[in-house]
Amino acid sequence: FEQLSTSDPEIAEVVLGELDRLRTGLQLIASENLTSSAVLAALGSTLTNKYAEGYPGRRYYGGCAQVDRAEEIGIARAKDLFGAEHANLQPHSGASANLAAYAALVQPGDTVLAMELPHGGHLTHGSRVNFSGKWFQPVGYTVRRDTELIDYDEVRDLALTHRPKMIICGATAYPRLIDFALFREIADEVGAYLMVDAAHFIGLVAGQAVPSPVPYADVVCATTHKVLRGPRGGMILCRESLAERIDKAVFPFTQGGPLMHAVAAKAVALHEAAQPEYRRYAAQVVANAQALADGLAAEGMRPVSGGTDTHLALIDLQETGVTGAEAEARCDAATITLNKNAIPYDPHKPMVASGIRVGTPCVTTQGMTEPQMRQVAELIARAVRADPSAPGGADVLAGVAADVAELVADHPAYAR
Ligand code: PLP
Repeated sequence: FEQLSTSDPEIAEVVLGELDRLRTGLQLIASENLTSSAVLAALGSTLTNKYAEGYPGRRYYGGCAQVDRAEEIGIARAKDLFGAEHANLQPHSGASANLAAYAALVQPGDTVLAMELPHGGHLTHGSRVNFSGKWFQPVGYTVRRDTELIDYDEVRDLALTHRPKMIICGATAYPRLIDFALFREIADEVGAYLMVDAAHFIGLVAGQAVPSPVPYADVVCATTHKVLRGPRGGMILCRESLAERIDKAVFPFTQGGPLMHAVAAKAVALHEAAQPEYRRYAAQVVANAQALADGLAAEGMRPVSGGTDTHLALIDLQETGVTGAEAEARCDAATITLNKNAIPYDPHKPMVASGIRVGTPCVTTQGMTEPQMRQVAELIARAVRADPSAPGGADVLAGVAADVAELVADHPAYAR
């Protein structure tokens, strides 16, 4: 870091500023985590220099002996950890992994059945502004109004009516377990591939805190930077029978040279996730999310579907009269980072939204447990209700920020 400060003080200041933000605030974005220094070391290594188009032992460039080892080790760890027949660690991101899965399994114009974005699905699940909605025929399933759980009857009806070539389950803002066996059954009924987008919860699968989709899915796509606590990036797991199609879909069809520093960092994260300590971590992430959801419910903020089985909770703020956008801004002013989020059947536009999404991967990495989650819920509630334009509002937010600083001082991110 000293070298960076000397050669580029401007960027060094940004890096230090971000470290300070992490150290002084509360990070509740459900899709973020705090990587270990071992992961950071691999990411910041000379492996970033190497071109390695192709796969281990079959590269288009010389000098790949070392990066081959990194990728082979990473693949073996991923297969071991998830009990998968095949793993590809090259996707640059979760969206790139999904693009490759589409490329491997379906043709442009084919029908794909996936969760509607406003109900928790991802852009790559058929949004009109994404390749998935432009190049394919998207059909969307929803959650039921009464339970706010996936409407499996609707999934089956839509599958029988539209005969999709691929069905996707897995979401961005769905707090509950997904019935993979039932999705498999429906996919088999209509002869569709089943792609599980485990971007959010693959880390919980690694830590055995939630059931694995691997035995049910044809292809599992994931990110490596969320609960899994690795570098930003993607990963694909699949059956051996689809291995060649998946590998070719990643390279050369949708990507060029892999980011070998990121591949090595994924291998490091997979090693960490195989340790008993990580299993305790994953269980605590879920326990913390449940405690946080309960704490917010006690503050008059309703968890969608009544709670959570995972690392995140979706919170309906309608009772408070505060929108998701307002809540996000107020929490931000109080050094609590979270995001506004549409709730199912949301009357507001997505940029306003009636809810917030909170997640516990970061705070759990910082060693917080249930008692701290009750404090966090109380801090969020104070911030959300403090109108900065009303008399005294800004003071309340400053008070919350001071209490946040005290809380995180006992559970530091990247301790000095
Ligand atoms: N799939 C799901 C379900 C996600 O939630 C996300 C990101 O949040 C992605 C895919 C895309 O991942 P990335 O941002 O790495 O492209």
